[in-house]
Amino acid sequence: MTMSRYEQLKHLDRTYLWHPFTQMREWMGEDPIIIERGEGHYLVDVEGKRYLDGVSSLWCNVHGHRKAELDRALREQLDRIAHSTFLGLSHVPGIELAEQLVEIAPSGLKRVFYSDSGATAVEVALKIAMQYWQLKGETARTGFASLVEAYHGDTVGSMSVGYSETFHHFHRSLLFPVLRLNPPHVFRWFKRMSEETALKSAIQEAEEKLAQEKNSLAALIAEPLMQGAAGMWSQPAVYVKALSEICRKNGILFITDEVATGFGRTGRMFACEQAGVTPDILCLAKGITGGYLPLAATLTTEKIFSAFLGEYREFKTFFHGHTYTGNPLGCAVALASLELFKQGKIIERMQPKIDYLKRRLEREFVPLPHVADIRQWGFMVGIELAEDKDSRKSYPMAKRIGHKVILDARKRGVMIRPLGDVIILMPPLTITENELASLVDVTYQSIKAVTEG
Ligand SMILES: *Cc1c(COP(=O)(O)O)cnc(C)c1O
Repeated sequence: MTMSRYEQLKHLDRTYLWHPFTQMREWMGEDPIIIERGEGHYLVDVEGKRYLDGVSSLWCNVHGHRKAELDRALREQLDRIAHSTFLGLSHVPGIELAEQLVEIAPSGLKRVFYSDSGATAVEVALKIAMQYWQLKGETARTGFASLVEAYHGDTVGSMSVGYSETFHHFHRSLLFPVLRLNPPHVFRWFKRMSEETALKSAIQEAEEKLAQEKNSLAALIAEPLMQGAAGMWSQPAVYVKALSEICRKNGILFITDEVATGFGRTGRMFACEQAGVTPDILCLAKGITGGYLPLAATLTTEKIFSAFLGEYREFKTFFHGHTYTGNPLGCAVALASLELFKQGKIIERMQPKIDYLKRRLEREFVPLPHVADIRQWGFMVGIELAEDKDSRKSYPMAKRIGHKVILDARKRGVMIRPLGDVIILMPPLTITENELASLVDVTYQSIKAVTEG
């Protein structure tokens, strides 16, 4: 008997692959979903089954799949050149994209340094900050501060500032020490404070700790408004504003990692806008190409950039780069994506959908007996499930409740991915109202089926 195409691919996957963030023993015992193509906001597997892409293919898709304008931009660039280096040469889409990024970024960010992923955008930011202070003669400023449970990517520097015990404990000895600040979520959720007191406590802690270390810190790095991978830990916008001001007051650089929150996710182009903040360094990736290709950018102010200027022999140069830095295909599709943001009034048209989502979450999900907390900024949503809602007692890890919910949702044609027992909703920004309604319906049914079934 000949194997079906699906069976063949499954066999090859099990034989040759090692998937990211995946327990491969479990993976090899399950039937994987193998995606063949995309249609708008749907993923289609090799057997033709369709799934609504409820987490934007890991938080990066913006306009849906096979978007005609993006496909065209990519093909046109392919007809010119797929790649040429950015080291000692320049190219058209890289130049044009930099201008556009500076135009839409919080005002004051004037220089664009490209790389390939969120993690590298963060590494670049850390290295720029570190070198900046050395060049300025403040050589004691070598430390970094970050938020508890921050996630900044999986390279060594990014892991250091974003340490997560579960993900990174095997690599701890590689990591540099970092000053950790508790964000408001820790006070509100884990210490059961009111929103107001939690915010005050978090700001007070930041003030004290940062002032204490003000002469040794190069920078504070934070995910503004929403710590995504932590399980959607949200912050009020004033917290971001406060961090920015405390940094300024103490001469510490403020780096915002908008890898997840950038490009419309929170309902504005960048989360920093909601707080009226311009960071010293801004990290972008995920949504930058509309979710098409790996590309990242680290933006800085002219003040930081100019510290690196000098004669070659002074060696002030930022000696950092990657082979595919500023890949032209990535830049071309990123440009086309930004054009769609303008033409399609994407952010404006999200607003009623954000309200709709908020309304339904409040009305239908909050009363559910095992929904303990809901956190939302725009199209970033975390629904926290708990065994006991009042005492906030988590489910035993072995129960894998979050995992069960998403498997149930898959059966109902919706692709989502949990973070522990927090169910994440991160739809493409252009999702239609009907599609959004079915994302919410299915999530509701799956949570009910698994937690009450
Ligand atoms: C995803 C993510 C990263 C890492 O991006 P990669 O492209 O996966 O390296 C960094 N920071 C934040 C906030 C993220 O959500």
